[in-house]
Amino acid sequence: MGKVVSPHAWHSAPGAAPQGGLRGLGRPGAAHEKMSILQVSGVAKSFAGRGGETVALQATDLLVQENDFITILGPSGCGKSTLLRMVAGLDTPSGGVITLDGRPVRGPGADRGMVFQSYTLFPWLTVLQNVCFGLREKGMPAAQQKETARHFLAKVGLKDFENHFPKQLSGGMQQRTALARALANNPRILLMDEPFGALDHQTRELMQELLLGIWEEERKTVLFVTHDIDESIFMGNRVVVMSARPGRIKCDLPVPLPHPRHYAMKTTPPFAELKARLTEEIRIEVRRAAGLEPALG
Ligand code: ADP
Repeated sequence: MGKVVSPHAWHSAPGAAPQGGLRGLGRPGAAHEKMSILQVSGVAKSFAGRGGETVALQATDLLVQENDFITILGPSGCGKSTLLRMVAGLDTPSGGVITLDGRPVRGPGADRGMVFQSYTLFPWLTVLQNVCFGLREKGMPAAQQKETARHFLAKVGLKDFENHFPKQLSGGMQQRTALARALANNPRILLMDEPFGALDHQTRELMQELLLGIWEEERKTVLFVTHDIDESIFMGNRVVVMSARPGRIKCDLPVPLPHPRHYAMKTTPPFAELKARLTEEIRIEVRRAAGLEPALG
């Protein structure tokens, strides 16, 4: 079974506070004992193809605790999306078990909210109707649907756009709608697969701040896939680094930055130190994927 490796001296266990790090620095949830809500145990995935089997993910363990914001960082093709899709119930593991609140994941469910990189709004529905969609499916009364949707649209700054159709919105606004839609359903965990990957740099930074602000208020549990090192540090309270294909978790590092976070933190020594460490980890993986470093056994 794959193990969560912790080669760095200041890392103890997944989700643990670093020595002299997060403790007492205002991390949401730090004051009380946190519960593990998502458990990934020995989860592996292979895809059968004409040329044989592709091992996308080796047996992998991951524990996600209530209020965690975990960023999954790794080079392209290392199995990040595969892992997230299995948690979402969109793909089935070839081995191992995923449980959410102790119940095995057997398919998609409203307890997991998904935001993808590509724009996934229904083009024939307005912004408000898109956000109401899941609530209607749940059988929520129409007035309550609208009230809930408007609450989250206000949070993402789209109060005045509820009657617009997706094609009338910029990419950033579409992703804000997708975020409001996911949040309105009040999922146990928010699963985000490179949600800002298609946005320009400035919009991406705006979205990062917006999502962090919402997380700091709502204390949602988030699993966030990215290949951007800065994004992984700025957003996460833990960065889980994946190795090149076949993927596995090679290290799991706490982020020693307090909340609320703002952009100035990107120039602080703790940020720079973690960035240097992650840059090296990712560089090795990119070289390994390109065949320039020996693969690990
Ligand atoms: P990442 O998200 O890290 O870029 P993915 O999880 O998308 O990586 O893919 C991991 C590996 O699994 C890649 O080699 C990819 O080609 C392969 N893979 C993903 N989905 C499928 C599929 N449906 N069929 C075959 N191979 C797949």
